[in-house]
Amino acid sequence: MSNSTDIVYLDYAASTPADPRVVDVMTPLFGADGDFANPSSGHVAGRRSRAHVERATGQLAELLGCREEELVWTSGATESDNLAIVGAARYRADRGRHLITMPTEHKAVADVSRLLEKKGFEVSWLRPDDTGVLDPTILEAAIRPDTQLVSIMHVNNETGVIQDIEALGAICRERDVLFHVDAAQSVGKLPLDLASMPVDLLSTTAHKVYGPKGIGALYISGRPGCRVEALIHGGGQQGGRRPGTLAVPLIAGFGEAARIARSEMQENHAHLRSQRERLWRGIRDLEGIVQNGSESHAFPGILNVSIEDVEGESLLLALEPLCVATGSACNSKSQEPSSVLRALGRSDMLAQSAIRFSFGRPTTPDEVDIAVERYRTAIARLRDIAPGRAA
Ligand SMILES: *Cc1c(COP(=O)(O)O)cnc(C)c1O
Repeated sequence: MSNSTDIVYLDYAASTPADPRVVDVMTPLFGADGDFANPSSGHVAGRRSRAHVERATGQLAELLGCREEELVWTSGATESDNLAIVGAARYRADRGRHLITMPTEHKAVADVSRLLEKKGFEVSWLRPDDTGVLDPTILEAAIRPDTQLVSIMHVNNETGVIQDIEALGAICRERDVLFHVDAAQSVGKLPLDLASMPVDLLSTTAHKVYGPKGIGALYISGRPGCRVEALIHGGGQQGGRRPGTLAVPLIAGFGEAARIARSEMQENHAHLRSQRERLWRGIRDLEGIVQNGSESHAFPGILNVSIEDVEGESLLLALEPLCVATGSACNSKSQEPSSVLRALGRSDMLAQSAIRFSFGRPTTPDEVDIAVERYRTAIARLRDIAPGRAA
């Protein structure tokens, strides 16, 4: 990163920088010389703005393998999750008030599910096994006649564990239950083909895939019965599903990010994999170190490790200026051990020592080597000063 030669950034699961090609697409759309008009306006300038939105919608639809009319622009994955879960729960409340999710979900799903619990809905929280994976038969057993919605994420933002959304979605289809997937971490990184997948609602956000912050989308399947009640009301844009003037520059940026992600997916995947393997190779011999999350279901952009006899907050400080995460970025202000790692059966002691390394397109082997070095040094130093530990 610029102006800070010591900083090594390995926190791409929290946010990615906008690709320079994305910045080039967005920049001209802000000013008086660009297509700044309201895309809902009927005049020629409005039509020009609208063309940018239409192009971007096509680009995102191609990446997701869906139809353009199945996409709704939002402010990010948090809003998409809220619209999907509250919107579907309300839309189908007459038929039943039971929802299913997991304690390992992002706060945007978990907190809104807890809110619905307080508002008279019932929520079943399915636990994964100790590698973070949900066995589809557990979902099958949890579905009841009054179940209306299942929400399970694709790639976990803390552990990188990939859920088998094909198998989980197939169960939902069979039982006529809507299936929502928070795919903020996987869109543009793992192949998705929503036309052929049993997914009804899917949340995504641009800033995890080299687009700008503050723009996301919700996929709402066009198949009959898949509807959500709007959360906000206004000018009727986007068919009333999410009104408000469209953020044309951000949408155009997301579209370009989707185009790039689609055309470079394979090489990016291989790049992430080799960085993750390089880091693990460098630290796996440390005494008492464990990976959090299944190795066979691991997304290569994330490596989450715990280590015995080391205090997490001190470790994060000792690693500075290496930018990594304890728990998820959104939780890291609280001192509580990660609820995601606790759901995997990790002890408080091990959970609080967890560090999430996450890799991106800009990550170089040199940066990974520096991370290895700093991690090893920090562990050695903290163990050296830990009271009551034999040398
Ligand atoms: C980042 C993230 C979100 C929130 O996305 P925003 O764009 O910040 O609202 C939701 N879910 C997951 C899995 C994420 O990684």
